[in-house]
Amino acid sequence: LASQTELNQQTIVKLSDEVQIGGKDLVIIGGPCAVESLAQMEQVASHLVNSVQALRGGVYKPRTSPYSFQGLGEEGLKIFTQIRERYNLPVVTEVMSISQIETVAAYADMLQIGSRNMQNFDLLKALGQAGKPILLKRGLAATIEEFINAAEYILSHGNPDVVLCERGIRSFDNYTRNVLDLGAVAALKQLTHLPVIVDPSHAVGKRELVAPLAKAAIACGADGLIIECHPEPEKSVSDARQALSLEDMVQLVKSIRPVAEAIGKRI
Ligand code: PEP
Ligand code: MN
Repeated sequence: LASQTELNQQTIVKLSDEVQIGGKDLVIIGGPCAVESLAQMEQVASHLVNSVQALRGGVYKPRTSPYSFQGLGEEGLKIFTQIRERYNLPVVTEVMSISQIETVAAYADMLQIGSRNMQNFDLLKALGQAGKPILLKRGLAATIEEFINAAEYILSHGNPDVVLCERGIRSFDNYTRNVLDLGAVAALKQLTHLPVIVDPSHAVGKRELVAPLAKAAIACGADGLIIECHPEPEKSVSDARQALSLEDMVQLVKSIRPVAEAIGKRI
């Protein structure tokens, strides 16, 4: 179901009446790694409302250590509801388990499946009936074929609205957090009809390297970007090292415009 055919069609995934991923418009999703407070999200949204098309922020966080901040849970979803209405921006947030799907789907416009859950097959099957678009992130060490098969699980269980997200894969060099696989972006655009977006933040892990990778991703045909930013980047409760300031985020969006236009995407 995920494969491209000779018809060469492109699936367009709708987040709202105005925001669609996979068409002519480049879609930028910005926001913090984790929702921390209403004040934080208010600052993010007011600063970015004219620069991004959707907001991100985790309320259920898949942390490497069980002692790290695990997210605000439903309180974070309620914060999203207020922000989403005030700024008319769709919101994307992660779902980690089947039991969270119904709750998160009631608040969010798109459900993110994190890298660590890309092959959680029971979760993927359940997303078939989630009734919301899915942002499926590539597993930390998943092959392109495994990634497409993960999407196939969701599609074959009844949900046609899947967006693929390349977010870097593990390699031998830990200078950057992961290695952004731009070859995968180009390949996925040819192999499937699904929209493909890129997360340069988790791929590179260092804020000063996010902008060049964002530009490269668009040049490779990505339909959008998901980027972490924070009103006070150093104070982020998670992924502080890769968070852009809100000013740098606005600047990044401006700087990618010529690249987007060169390949025929509107921004
Ligand atoms: C995130 O988007 O904050 C995240 C945890 O991403 P990933 O699943 O790609 O590590
Ligand atoms: Mn993060």
